[in-house]
Amino acid sequence: MKDTKLFVVLPCYNEEEVLGETSKRLLELYGKMISEGTVSPESKIVFVDDGSRDRTWEIISGLCEQNNIYRGVKLAHNAGHQNALLGGLMTVKDECDCAVSIDADLQDDINVIPEMVKKFDNGCDVVYGVRSERKTDSFFKRTTAQGFYKFMAMMGVDVVYNHADYRLMSRRALNDLESFKEVNLFLRGLVPLIGYKSDSVYYERAERFAGESKYPLKKMLSFAFDGITSFSVKPIKVLWSMGLIVCVAAVIAAIYTLVSKFFGYTSDGWASLMCSIWFLGGVQLVSIGIIGEYIGKIYKESKARPRYIIEEYKLSLIPISEPTRQ
Ligand code: UDP
Ligand code: MG
Repeated sequence: MKDTKLFVVLPCYNEEEVLGETSKRLLELYGKMISEGTVSPESKIVFVDDGSRDRTWEIISGLCEQNNIYRGVKLAHNAGHQNALLGGLMTVKDECDCAVSIDADLQDDINVIPEMVKKFDNGCDVVYGVRSERKTDSFFKRTTAQGFYKFMAMMGVDVVYNHADYRLMSRRALNDLESFKEVNLFLRGLVPLIGYKSDSVYYERAERFAGESKYPLKKMLSFAFDGITSFSVKPIKVLWSMGLIVCVAAVIAAIYTLVSKFFGYTSDGWASLMCSIWFLGGVQLVSIGIIGEYIGKIYKESKARPRYIIEEYKLSLIPISEPTRQ
């Protein structure tokens, strides 16, 4: 019998249509895992109500009264998926050995949870759930999502391709996650920064079995934008390069203008206007780039991220020998 205490954390926003089925499926899986000895009987299923306006909290309260395997955390207002998830994980982290985060609609396959726990037992601190296929997503969702992962990589942000927020984290990794104090949360960018041994499990993503997506296009775009601006200063560096290119162009434009003027193809005032416009444009862009560099530094400082995370501190157990007298 294993004593791995597993907590599954599910953020829920207006999910009254899915909670009945979700809780049933998870309970079945827990029953199986506990009887097979994969996890401890003290494992829990934790629903985080992210300020829902429907019956979500009533349903969660009802579940908690029926069975002590369920827990409910109610946020005072809609804080958004990432904050709700972090809130849930931080509430339970000191009681569990590891926690799995998963969406309430169970689009991510819960049957790989035992595999995640196995990898945790074998020493992994983070196990990413990765979508092997996106057959069930619409063409639009698939292309935009994949474009997003590629763009993030181009911007220098370390994200696991095709992994959303379905992952297992050990208590140690959760404690380290807490030391990241930033308010603009983008968990899938933060978790790889923690480090430690990690692995992936693969699954096929299913369709939502009830209810509607709580991520309309507008929210998706703002999430992607948040992800990039919370992790990358590359857009500022682009300003720099643009400024330099315009400066070079200004020199070429100046030569062209002077040659034109010399041969008398110009009207009065044109040459001086041309030179000034190009030159000022370049100087302005470079200046914005320089200011941007400083803002980029302030941005990094203001995040107050931990500068390092210690994985192990080894002490020698060999007793100190008496110093030899001479
Ligand atoms: N969610 C949340 N707060 C929000 C929006 C969404 O807690 O403000 C939850 C939602 O209940 C679900 C998860 O985040 O459990 C993912 O949302 P959804 O399934 O609608 O996103 P999609 O799978 O369509 O990207
Ligand atoms: Mg979903």
